Amino acid sequence: MITGKTKVIGIFGSPIGHTLSPVIHNEAFRALKIDYCYVPFHVKKENLREAVQAIRALNLKGVNVTVPHKERVVEYLDELSEEVLKIGAANTILNSEGILKGFNTDVKGFITSIKEEGVEIAGRKVLLIGAGGAARAVAYGVLKEAGKVYIFNRTVEKAKEIEKQFNDIGEIRALPELSERVTRDMEIVINATSLGMKRDDPYPIDPYLLNSSHIYYDVVYPQTPLMREVKKKGCKVIGGLGMLVWQAVYAFEIWTGVRPSAEIFMKILNKVLTNSKKFATKHT
Ligand code: NAP
Repeated sequence: MITGKTKVIGIFGSPIGHTLSPVIHNEAFRALKIDYCYVPFHVKKENLREAVQAIRALNLKGVNVTVPHKERVVEYLDELSEEVLKIGAANTILNSEGILKGFNTDVKGFITSIKEEGVEIAGRKVLLIGAGGAARAVAYGVLKEAGKVYIFNRTVEKAKEIEKQFNDIGEIRALPELSERVTRDMEIVINATSLGMKRDDPYPIDPYLLNSSHIYYDVVYPQTPLMREVKKKGCKVIGGLGMLVWQAVYAFEIWTGVRPSAEIFMKILNKVLTNSKKFATKHT
């Protein structure tokens, strides 16, 4: 029950209708008997500054920030975590008595999710496709774990920028193209583009270039067509649900001081996805 004492968390994005975060967090608050609630806010680009000021004015305890605001929001915050300073993007804000602190829980979310699948990153060659916010978080995480990043993006200049910006952390190289010679050498292949979200999207990489020795990780969830395709080839495949769950776990901990178990979040998420599949089947 929401009372005058309930602490409020928000999420800022545009569009916002598709987000699963309100369901995940509200169910977890209920399950753990924590007096918080989580509300979606459709914040248009031109209103971001006012929305961030409203965190203080409305005394929200914190917010998540999603597409397209993760990068621009940084300039309106008071304090930034180490990874936000380097990546230039935040997905979680804590309102600490009027001081707005920015975090990027996608980094730890990615690392924890790949490690819990038994994949070690140190010393391994990682082909990273994409150069947006998710790719920056993944590149930072891989380099911090002493992996070697080979980054390819449709807009090659953006991959080169990331190479330049991150090469003081570890080994990173931008690739001008995806050739058989280069991919053969890779151990982990990660899709961090938005390709796979829509049914008719092209593949981020030609499946012909992948074989059973590759580990394929896709940040997109729940399951992309390419994940199905490369599973058939015998690759170990990891989807983006684990990252979604763990970034939420770490954000939840930042706001409440309580670390929930990832199982609670995964259970809620699976329930939501099953229900939305049933809904889609009924209405198509
Ligand atoms: P973003 O900043 O908008 O970046 C999008 C990336 O996709 C860019 O590299 C872009 O290339 C590429 N791209 C888009 N359309 C393309 C096309 N037709 N052909 C080739 N490349 C294309 O988005 P983001 O924030 O990084 O998010 C990317 C995906 O990660 C989204 O699906 C998001 O939901 C997912 N994500 C998942 C999690 C999780 O917890 N699992 C966390 C964060 C994000 P250009 O630079 O050439 O435009």
